[in-house]
Amino acid sequence: MLKVVQCWDDGVNDDIRLIEILRKHGAKASFNLNPATHGELRQGAYSERWEKRIERLARHELNDVYAGFTIANHSMTHPWPTQISLADWRTEVVDARKILQDWFQQEILGFVYPYGDCDAATAEVVREAGHLYARTTKNATPCMPVADPMMLHADCHFHNERFWDLYAQAKASEAGVFYFWGHSFELCTEGEWADFDAKIARISADAEAQWVELPDLFACESC
Ligand SMILES: [Zn+2]
Repeated sequence: MLKVVQCWDDGVNDDIRLIEILRKHGAKASFNLNPATHGELRQGAYSERWEKRIERLARHELNDVYAGFTIANHSMTHPWPTQISLADWRTEVVDARKILQDWFQQEILGFVYPYGDCDAATAEVVREAGHLYARTTKNATPCMPVADPMMLHADCHFHNERFWDLYAQAKASEAGVFYFWGHSFELCTEGEWADFDAKIARISADAEAQWVELPDLFACESC
């Protein structure tokens, strides 16, 4: 049975539409948040690249928007981890984990490096803070087993043209895990939203696959 996991970064307004699709198809997912970016009001700007406004959700929206989903730590303010002091990085990681646990009343076990930027020292800080895994922005198929869970690579980004090839490869692998990720703001046109809906529906309908929570891939290592 293929275990399928997905995660989404940055806590933005398009997560609302994305989550409607996930709920419709009974899909599990983790959302990687930066507590300092969620203020009293939504904060954002028009993006020339994506040709739309991208906003971080307001603090008061978060519990409703993400109800029933897993939350992971994406650091406090989304800095480049290797470009700040290790002491500042520790504060970014530890404070964010505390706040997210307080806000969502769930143990925060996952981490995602802002910009995928990490090295051995920044990864060690994440491990020491109590996380079971930390995701980079590199790709690897099969993504599991992983030598160091603090250097976890996903199979691919959700827009990857080889998505279904990699899905099939993951299915044939011994560990049988397929992991994809993205930002909901990367869904722009109605066609892209429809394709995404179909993608989630196809996975949910696959009798040889099941949605799994990311921390559950690592739970046994800590039992
Ligand atoms: Zn990010």
